[in-house]
Amino acid sequence: MAIDPKIQAAINQQINHEMTAAYNYLAMVVYFEQINLAGFAFWMRKQHEEELAHATKLFQYLLDRGGKVELETIPKPSSEFGSVADVFQAALSMEQQNTASINGVYSLAKQLDDYATLSHLQWFLDEQVEEEKTMEETLGLIRFAGDDKSALLTLNSQMANRPDEGAQPEG
Ligand code: MG
Repeated sequence: MAIDPKIQAAINQQINHEMTAAYNYLAMVVYFEQINLAGFAFWMRKQHEEELAHATKLFQYLLDRGGKVELETIPKPSSEFGSVADVFQAALSMEQQNTASINGVYSLAKQLDDYATLSHLQWFLDEQVEEEKTMEETLGLIRFAGDDKSALLTLNSQMANRPDEGAQPEG
């Protein structure tokens, strides 16, 4: 069944959101590199790669459905942050917006009885639960560390142990 133009447009927009997230995470890598928190920088690099993979997944889905991919402009991200906590607060907000965006595509697919898209988006819904949980937990730990620099450095070391996406169980 040919993909509905409305779903096609929504998926193209979602590809842009994933690419925008990837670019913002890369900007966060820049911030952490600048302040020499290599563990956090490494972790954000992984996050960047994950978002690229999300965009590619949707890109491939649209092609598989015989749809037309349209790549839109990615807004310029900022590498200016007030603190480590600010970075993770921004990341959490971004993920919450992304969840809302995926929910919107899901809702549209439901209205249009597009079962294949609903099935494909299921993975993204599960992924978003994971993303928001991770950001909230990490933000919690950073806030707990507060002004304790040695606690933050311990956290920085731990962040360097993030496994590859392929090594993580998929939701
Ligand atoms: Mg994503």
